[in-house]
Amino acid sequence: MDPPPPEAVYYICGDCGMEVQLKSNDVIQCRECGYRILYKKRTRRIIDFGLTNVDSLDYSNGRGSRIF
Ligand SMILES: [Zn+2]
Repeated sequence: MDPPPPEAVYYICGDCGMEVQLKSNDVIQCRECGYRILYKKRTRRIIDFGLTNVDSLDYSNGRGSRIF
């Protein structure tokens, strides 16, 4: 119902754990330590790394299993 604003996405740095807010044009890189592996904090699809808050919506619409 409610499409997420396209402006910013929050990531968690895979190294220092810093929360990084990135816009669609930004380079995927931690601003604190420069690490380039960031985990998406919230996602509508189930392509998380275990750090994501997966809404119950994902399960009720999905097939009941996680797809990587
Ligand atoms: Zn970092």
